[in-house]
Amino acid sequence: MSHLSDPAAVRELLARHGLRLSKGLGQNFLINPSVCPRMAAASGAADCAGVLEIGPGIGVLTWELAQIAPKVIAIELDRRLTPVLKETLSGCGNVEVIWGDVLELDLSRLIQEKFDGEQICVCANLPYYITSPVIMTLLESQLPLSTITVMVQKEAAQRLCAPPGVRACGAVSVGVHYRSRPKILFQVSRGSFLPPPNVDSAVIRFDLLPTPPVAVSHEPTLFQIARGAFSQRRKTAANAISAALGIPKPQVEEALLAAGSPANARAEQLTLEQFAVLANILSE
Ligand code: SAM
Repeated sequence: MSHLSDPAAVRELLARHGLRLSKGLGQNFLINPSVCPRMAAASGAADCAGVLEIGPGIGVLTWELAQIAPKVIAIELDRRLTPVLKETLSGCGNVEVIWGDVLELDLSRLIQEKFDGEQICVCANLPYYITSPVIMTLLESQLPLSTITVMVQKEAAQRLCAPPGVRACGAVSVGVHYRSRPKILFQVSRGSFLPPPNVDSAVIRFDLLPTPPVAVSHEPTLFQIARGAFSQRRKTAANAISAALGIPKPQVEEALLAAGSPANARAEQLTLEQFAVLANILSE
C-alpha cells in the first residue's frame, strides 16, 4: 500500500511543492487505503500487456498499478504535478507519464507506440467533468482494450450501466452496451477523497466484448444517432434525431416503425437492438 493514502502525508507533499488543488480539473485525490489496491486488482492489470491510466494526480493509483502491471502509461493534464510525480513514482521504473489532455491525444497511436498495439486495460479515477466524453472516446475508437475500470460519480455509474430502453439510460449507455458488459463493482464514499467532493462515487468495470451483441453496418452512425436521440430528452426520438443529423423527420419515423418502435417513442424507450436497426436503415 502506498503512503499516499495517508492524508497527513498528502497534505505535507502538496505543501512542500506549493501545490493548490484545482477544482476545475477535478482534483480530488484518493486517501482511502483500501480503494486503490481493490481497483488495481479488479482492473486485470496483472494479466494484460499494460495499463493506461487517465489523471494520475499525485500517483496513488499509479503506484498501486505499477506493483502488478508490466507497464503503466499515465496521462496527466496538470504539468504542475511534474515534481510531485517524479518524487512519488521514483521507485517505479515501469511507469511513464504523458503530459496532455486525454481528449486531445491520439490514443490509438499512443497505445501502438507504447504497447506495440497489444491488448491493455484502462484504470482511472476519472475527473468528473469529462466522464462521458472519456468513456465515449474509449468505446468509440477501435482501441485494443480488454477492460476499462473507472471511478465515476455514483449517479453516473448507474446511468452508464443502465441498458438502453430503461429510463435511467443515456447516450453513453448505448455505446457501453454495444461494446461491453458493464458492472458496478463497489461504491466509494465522498470521505475517501482529499478534498471530499459533494457526491459519492462508484467503481465500474466494462469488459470489452470481442463482437458486439447486435450487427451494425456503420458504427459511427450508431453513435451519432444515440447522441442525437438523447440530445433533447423532452422531444421524441424522431424530432431529436432529425434535428441533430439533418435527416427529414418522416424518414426517421419510418425507420422507427421498421425497428418495431412507435413513431413517437422517446430516446430512453429504444433498446439497443432498435438503435442498431435505426443505424442500419439511416446510414444507407
Ligand atoms: N488518480 C488520482 C487519484 O485517484 O487520487 C487523481 C484523480 S483526480 C480525480 C483526476 C486527475 O485527472 C487530476 O490529477 C487532474 O489533474 C487530471 N485531469 C483532469 N483533466 C484531465 C484531462 N483532460 N486529461 C488528463 N488528465 C486530466
